[in-house]
Amino acid sequence: MARVVVVGGGYGGVTVAKALDDVADVVLVEPKDAFHHNVAALRALVAPDWPARMFLPYDRLLTRGTVVRDRAVRVAPDGVLLASGTRLTADYIVLATGSSYSFPAKADRLSTVESLSRYEAARSSLGAASRVLLLGAGAIAASRAAKRQPIAKATQLKEKNFSTCTRSPTARGSSHASHSPWDDVAFSSTYIPKADGSKRPLSIPTR
Ligand SMILES: Cc1cc2nc3c(=O)[nH]c(=O)nc-3n(C[C@H](O)[C@H](O)[C@H](O)COP(=O)(O)OP(=O)(O)OC[C@H]3O[C@@H](n4cnc5c(N)ncnc54)[C@H](O)[C@@H]3O)c2cc1C
Repeated sequence: MARVVVVGGGYGGVTVAKALDDVADVVLVEPKDAFHHNVAALRALVAPDWPARMFLPYDRLLTRGTVVRDRAVRVAPDGVLLASGTRLTADYIVLATGSSYSFPAKADRLSTVESLSRYEAARSSLGAASRVLLLGAGAIAASRAAKRQPIAKATQLKEKNFSTCTRSPTARGSSHASHSPWDDVAFSSTYIPKADGSKRPLSIPTR
């Protein structure tokens, strides 16, 4: 039976590992202790019962295959070297290491317990805030603004291009917004030009 090492236990890696579990010797390598359903991350910032539901342990994912909690540090055609020093041989390697987003869009801790306390802390500071400033008005910020509406006095999206977000289906579709999510939204440039003409991100203390 062919040995398949899947690197990364996000949406892609989990799907491949599960699909091959019956027909191959599958090893899934993932440093986190649970799958993070990050699509729910923004809702988890305002809904107290959501964070715990975003983390799904890997222990029942595979019937035959195994999940190794480690990080791949080098990949060769015939195997994968892990941070622990272990080398996994493989007939096939699937690289599914995805992308990284800063917290809270994706969890930045390997342990579910630590991630849950990060989300809880963020949710409570967001709940205590009377005004929230969002920098960037793409789909993520638009979604967050819509979810934030019921508990914020005002939400500001800072972005150069207003038109990209007025069409956001996520914001329009929010059933939690008591009025249009755009009613008290303001826009401006995200970047401050420096003297030499280059730009640097605007940094604003939030507390
Ligand atoms: C807030 C938010 C909302 C989103 N909403 C949607 C949506 O509604 N619909 C949609 O289609 N998409 C959505 N996306 C995008 C979606 O989350 C990504 O497309 C998806 O996560 C990609 O899955 P992936 O498996 O490729 O990578 P990821 O989910 O990023 O998973 C990669 C995995 O690889 C692991 N990894 C990384 N490096 C290593 C290594 N060296 N060794 C071992 N493991 C490693 C990571 O720990 C991680 O678990 C959203 C994203 C965000 C942030």
